[in-house]
This record gives sequence, C-alpha cells and structure tokens, in this order.
Amino acid sequence: MAVNARILVVEDEEALTTLLRYNLDAEGYDVETVARGDDADTRLKERVPDLVVLDWMLPGLSGIELCRRLRARPETKALPIIMLTARGEESERVRGLATGADDYIVKPFSVPELLARVKGLLRRAAPERLATVLAFGDIELDRDKRRVVRSSRPIDLGPTEYRLLEFFLEHPGRVFSREQLLDSVWGRDIYIDERTVDVHIGRLRKLLNPAGEPDPIRTVRGAGYALDDRFDKAAE
Ligand code: CA
Repeated sequence: MAVNARILVVEDEEALTTLLRYNLDAEGYDVETVARGDDADTRLKERVPDLVVLDWMLPGLSGIELCRRLRARPETKALPIIMLTARGEESERVRGLATGADDYIVKPFSVPELLARVKGLLRRAAPERLATVLAFGDIELDRDKRRVVRSSRPIDLGPTEYRLLEFFLEHPGRVFSREQLLDSVWGRDIYIDERTVDVHIGRLRKLLNPAGEPDPIRTVRGAGYALDDRFDKAAE
C-alpha cells in the first residue's frame, strides 16, 4: 500500500474546513487544517505536505501572497496548490495562476469536483502517493492499466462497475449507503434513482463471481453496501 498523501487545508471558514477535512479524510488522505495565512506559512516551513488547498482571502497573510512565497522557496517550488476563491474574485483568476497555483476552484464548489481535482493533481505530481494497484483478498485492480483480476484471472467490468469497485477498494470494510455511493461514484449533480445502485452492485457481483466464488460485497440491511472484511480475512 502507498503512504497516504498529506494535504494541508488553509481556510478560515470553519464550516468549509470541516467539510473538506471530513471528505478528504474519507478518501484516505492525511489532512491538516490551518485557518490563518501566516500560520500556514510557518507550518509549511516546518513540514511540506503533498498538496495544499489554499483559500484566497485569509487573515494574517493572503492566499496569493502565501502562494508567491511558496513558489520562491526551493522546498515548496513544485508543491501542488489548489486555490479556492469566491465568485467575485474570479476575474483575478489569471493573477492567481500567474502567482503559481496549479489549479483553481470557485466557491461554492461541489465536493466530488474538488476531490477529483485533488486526485488529478496528486496523480501528476506525486503518483507514488496514490496506490496504483488496489488489492482486496484475491481481487486486484490496476489503475494504470484499468484492469481487474480475480485469482489472476482477468475480469471485464463496465465503466460504472469499475468505478464502484475502485471506490469500494479505496475504503475496505466501510459501509456506504446508496446515497453515498451515488454521490461518490456517479457525482452529486446527476439525478439517478437509488435503485440504480442495486442494479450495478448486482452486475458487479455477477462479474466478480462468475463461478460462484465467495462474494466480496456485503449487503448491510437498511444501511447499504461494503467490501466484506471477513471475506478479506478468509481469503488471506
Ligand atoms: Ca476566506
């Protein structure tokens, strides 16, 4: 398993900080949060994370100025930075990117979108921090090759089943409601009936267990679905 990527969130809106911390943590990142620009500057001199989510307007030191300072120091010259700004500041976009941010998101943004940007940026900047091969019991998913094997036999999955399995493999043992799966796998902005989840889980099960192998997906009545941790132990 790869080491979890470390993400520093610099944001002074408490509600947003909580939301970001919760969601980044759920994705398996190690998250640290700081509310002031000058405190972030100090923290980044002590320890360099794998990525920074940086708000534009901050007490102490603005996100723009912090970004400029980070780019001027050799240790943080190439540090991936995603800048957050309010809609009114959007015209400043060019300035933000010129200052050295790698990406730019306008508030209010959707959490899946931010997570996708974080993942994309890490994949480019620190690919070793994202596990290329996710494994669970006798199942392996190779993200680079987009290939799934079970007991070394290739398994052909459709795009939705692939994303579902990838998501489960990122969070082994955790139970997800149909709504959480819709949000994370399909995206919050698309309206899809929750029963669609059951249909795709059914397909994924069938494809993963062509000869009646043990089912790695557990149905938790009234709660949702999870990769079955007992299955993992049984297969070891
Ligand atoms: Ca702010």
